[in-house]
Amino acid sequence: MTKRAAVAVYARISQDRSGEELGVRRQLADCRAEAERRGWTVAEEYVDDDSSAFSGKLRPAYERMVSDLADGRRDAVVVWHMDRLHRRPIEFEQFVEVCKRAGVEDVVTLSGDVDLAKGDGLLVARVVAAFSASESEAKRRRGARKALEIAESGRPMMGGPRPFGFLDDRVTHHPAEAPVVRELAARALAGETLISLSTWLQASGVRTVGGKEWRTNTVRQLLTNPRSWGMRVHRGQVIGPGLWEPIISPEDGERLRRLLLDPARRTNRSARRYLLTGMLECGKCGGRLYSTPKDGKRRYGCAMGPDHRGCGGVFIYAEMLEQFITTAVLYRLDSPVMDEVLTGGGQDDERVRDLGEAIKGDTDRLDDLAATWADGEISKAEWLKARSRIQARLEANRAEFYRVTHRDAVAAYVGRGDELRGQWDGLAFSRQVAIVKAVLAKATILPAAVPGRRGLDPDRVQPEWRL
Ligand SMILES: [Zn+2]
Repeated sequence: MTKRAAVAVYARISQDRSGEELGVRRQLADCRAEAERRGWTVAEEYVDDDSSAFSGKLRPAYERMVSDLADGRRDAVVVWHMDRLHRRPIEFEQFVEVCKRAGVEDVVTLSGDVDLAKGDGLLVARVVAAFSASESEAKRRRGARKALEIAESGRPMMGGPRPFGFLDDRVTHHPAEAPVVRELAARALAGETLISLSTWLQASGVRTVGGKEWRTNTVRQLLTNPRSWGMRVHRGQVIGPGLWEPIISPEDGERLRRLLLDPARRTNRSARRYLLTGMLECGKCGGRLYSTPKDGKRRYGCAMGPDHRGCGGVFIYAEMLEQFITTAVLYRLDSPVMDEVLTGGGQDDERVRDLGEAIKGDTDRLDDLAATWADGEISKAEWLKARSRIQARLEANRAEFYRVTHRDAVAAYVGRGDELRGQWDGLAFSRQVAIVKAVLAKATILPAAVPGRRGLDPDRVQPEWRL
């Protein structure tokens, strides 16, 4: 068993009705025990509360953990159950990707399932292994050889949705879609941008095979796939002509690849990273602000267009906004309010337990209350009245639970705002993000009162502090 010296432990409470809300301490204790059993050293425990109305959909601890993994600061993850770690398959995919890139192989889950736990007490599984375990290596190799054979024969790749431009047999041109591919190719070669092409497709009511609207990257994929000019691609490589007629000429195809895959042409969105990504909300439509650089200047905006669904009504330059927010965060770290938040409330463990119990109690109470109303023992008005009282308490408790369980994240920085100010620019980007996220829940950006005004108008920024 490999020794791990900087293990991440992750726990999350969620708004489920299975009574697991009390389980954070249990999750953490089990994970700690598992790390100890393996002789691993836990570097940090990450705890999220995504049942809290206050934290919204953000999972700051999870994001912090992923960024620490990506930075190579953690070498393994212990989580109680996979459902704590991810809520959607896409998150799982991204997580696996980050782990792969960072060379993190050990992701351990402890299943709480009673049946499975009977063996050695705990079911231990590596995620990647679990993911591909159903297929044996031999079977995979046989399949790979077969696929190569088919590719070399020029037959199309089957499985998955059919490609745009072809019918289900993947050989016959689609009577409506093939001409669209031709027009797109011609327009792109004439210099039209991918954004303009996507917008044109959207306006024409042309959808992808999956029925979705086109985005710049899906248009690029379509126009650079050699399938369109009759070539068979296998594992990313052209291996020969396919058994179908080209939709566009191979010469045009090659020109499109040169044009659209030219690295210099790609908008370099991540050249300079955006500190407040995911933390800014549009004051006009409530949407999320994305990086929308303009004239080489970093800018956040409620972007419109094929890749985003914003209102296009709010834009703000990044430099000054980030400075403003950072200053406020560092100032806050030095404020007495912060001290109070962190020192008040007695002992952490006890407080966490009490809050957990209160939350669990109130959740049960809400269920009981609903049942009492359903049984006709109280009126609907009585039910609603009692419910709103319990809910208010529940939300307050959840908010405090968040504060208490996240103290560790900021505790190290409290009272050091002044010192940090001097070091800020030298801090790793992920550290800067972690510090800002620990203090700032989100900031709403209002539309500019005076368009084109120079400098930052602080009235446009409405921060919502976590702490
Ligand atoms: Zn907007």
